[in-house]
Parts: sequence; structure tokens; C-alpha cells
Amino acid sequence: MLDTQLIRSQYPILNRTVDGHPLIYLDNAATSLTPRVVVEAINEMYNCHKANVHRGVHTLSQEATDRVEATREKIRRHINAASTAEIIYAQGTTESINLVAASMGDTFQHGDEIIVTTMEHHSNIVPWQLLGDRKRIRLRVVPLNPDGSLNINAYEELFTENTRFAALAHVSNVLGTVNPVRQLTDIAHRHGVPVLIDGAQAAAHRTIDVAQLDCDFYAFSSHKMYGPTGVGVLYGKQRLLERMPPYQGGGEMIGNVSFEKTTWADLPFKFEAGTPDYVGIAALSAAIDYINQIGIDNIAAHEQNLLQAATQGLQKIGDLRIFGTAEGKEAVVSFLVGNISSYDMGMLLDRLGIAVRTGHHCAQPLMSHYDVAGMVRASFAAYNTLEEVDTFVSAVNRVANILRR
Ligand code: PMP
Repeated sequence: MLDTQLIRSQYPILNRTVDGHPLIYLDNAATSLTPRVVVEAINEMYNCHKANVHRGVHTLSQEATDRVEATREKIRRHINAASTAEIIYAQGTTESINLVAASMGDTFQHGDEIIVTTMEHHSNIVPWQLLGDRKRIRLRVVPLNPDGSLNINAYEELFTENTRFAALAHVSNVLGTVNPVRQLTDIAHRHGVPVLIDGAQAAAHRTIDVAQLDCDFYAFSSHKMYGPTGVGVLYGKQRLLERMPPYQGGGEMIGNVSFEKTTWADLPFKFEAGTPDYVGIAALSAAIDYINQIGIDNIAAHEQNLLQAATQGLQKIGDLRIFGTAEGKEAVVSFLVGNISSYDMGMLLDRLGIAVRTGHHCAQPLMSHYDVAGMVRASFAAYNTLEEVDTFVSAVNRVANILRR
């Protein structure tokens, strides 16, 4: 059992009210709240070590550089990568995926195919479509089973001699489905196809072991894992990254520049043009420590309790439909009540101090699959409590009764 009161005391934002009600924050899949230790790490960087990295010989610059590189090693250990050359800093999951699409995608040709799934977030669809438009590449889409899991047989059948890449979610931000990444990766590898895993919804809730998953790329965002905004990570297998051209040009990513010929820096710097978010990176380090201190398995077990309570409570509400019931799903519950719009439900819940997400969740193809315009989504984190879940369920019931009239 987590000491949620102790955990909550580290989040000043949880003391605030919305419309006179204590804030109940259930929008964690969009972004998590930030504990004091992470905010203090940001302050410490600004107050004590604010200097640009990598270029300076002076003390402050070296201190900032040390923090950025120590964090890289911490991330490497955290996800069990083989080398820090495989850990690339990006703005977040979105930029990481765009990096791979732009750089590796450069070698793809007219007629090639990329496999994605019906449950992907727009950031794991649109970069491939942009590439597809430029190169006339086709997306092939893995269908879903009724419970919101992937149809693995259909996935396997999508592979042809034209398949160049597979871009797949680890965890759905809408359905909570946890995909069998190792199995999906093994199937792709049997066809000689590299795999990118969108880990945006996994990183705060489960151990990420890229060696065990054997994926070729893995992307995640700091702001969804108690860390600061503006920073994320792309893991890539070194032998693939070595062969890929730079994504953006600028400072830091070069070996030597002349007007005749410019060479690239070694990994990982080849993919890190310009000044990185060194403040955010130092604070991400604090967020990883924070997660490890509580224990990711403890967080996950706590969130599962909340999910179970929320699901059981919501199921008692007449006309309520939950989207995504796959076994072992993560602590996200998306639903609709009758024909009440998700916005109306979300707006009235907000009046009661309850923050949920409404709308298409950046997954419009998935909304089309279920033939709905949007859904209401509640998603849980370490600081949420069973009392909050009870209040939330009662509030959904109350709002549904008002809106049904
Ligand atoms: N993929 C998934 C599954 C997500 O849930 C999100 C964020 N909602 C993203 C990608 C994009 O992450 P970011 O906005 O941090 O780049």
C-alpha cells in the first residue's frame, strides 16, 4: 500500500480548489502533476548551475554538462539500454517519433509500407503520413478485437515484402490496452522489419526494459512521468542510429564544419542539434529518482486498485459504456453515458472540481472505430485516492442524471 497522504503532501497543487471544490486530478494520461522534489531540481538548476552545456570550460557549464550526462546514464539504466549512445534527448514522444520518421524514413521508397495500429495517438500516425505523402508510402493498420486488444493474427498478416517499419503503442492512451511488445517485435523481426514503440503511456506505470522488449526504438515523455515539460527520450539501437542521417542541423551535432564539407558528431550528439533542455533534463533525473523511490510496481499496484474501484463504480451507472476492457489494462478508463456528449460531462465534472479529459484524445481513427465523436477519460497516478474515485463515480452519476433529463 502506498502512503498516499505522504505522497500528496509533496504536491502543493493538490491543495488548490476549483469552483470551491478540492481539486480531483484525473487527467494523468495527458500530463502528470509534479512533486516538489522535481520543482526544486528545476529551481536548483536556475539558481545554481544555469549555463549552457558542452561548450564551456567554466565551472558552471561543466556542472550543467555533468548533470545532463549523468541523467543520460540514469535513463540508460532505467530502461536497460546497452549504451548512453542509444539515449537521445528530444522534446518528447512526438519529437522522438518525428526524428525517426524523418531520419530513418529518408531511406524508404515509393511502394513501401508502414504498419501502425488502430489505437495509435496522432503523434504515431501523422509523422508517418507526412513521410507517406512525400514518398508515396502506404500505412497498413492493425485492427482491434472487441475488448480493445490488438488482433495479433491480423497484424502478422499485414507484413509483406514491402513492409519497411512498424510503429506501435506500448499502452493505449484511450483504452489502457497494454500491447504484447515483445511478441509484436519478434513477429516484425522475423520479417526483417524494425519496430518503434510509443511508450508515452507506459513510462510512468511499468518497468521499461528495452533489452527485454528487443524493440529498435522506444519513445517517451518526461511530463507524463512526474517530470518537467519540454523533454523526452528516444532510445534507439546503436547499429541503426549509426546508419541514420541527422534529423536537424545546428550546433552540438557536428564533428567539423566547413563550407566544403561538414561531418557529424558521434552518437548520441548527432541527433541533438542546438541547446538541449538541460534544466528539464536535470529535473527528469529527479523524477526518475522519485519513481524509483516509491517503486514503479507499488505505483502500478495502487493504480490498479483505483482502476478496479472506478470500473466497478461506473459499471453500476445505467447506460454507461466503457471502451477498452482488455485483460491487464493500465489505469485509464474511457467511457460515455448514453448519448451525453463527452464535453458536457467533462464541463459539469469540472464544476465539481474533477479534472478529466474529453474529446477525441488525439486518437480520431480510434474514435471512428467506435463510431463516437469523443469519450470521457479518467486516468490515475500515485497521488490519487480511493476517496477521490468514489467522489468521481458519484459525480458522474449525478451529472448523468442532470444531463439525461
Ligand atoms: N503517444 C501517446 C500514446 C500519448 O498518450 C501521447 C500524449 N498524449 C503522445 C504520444 C504524445 O506525447 P507528447 O505530447 O508528450 O509528445
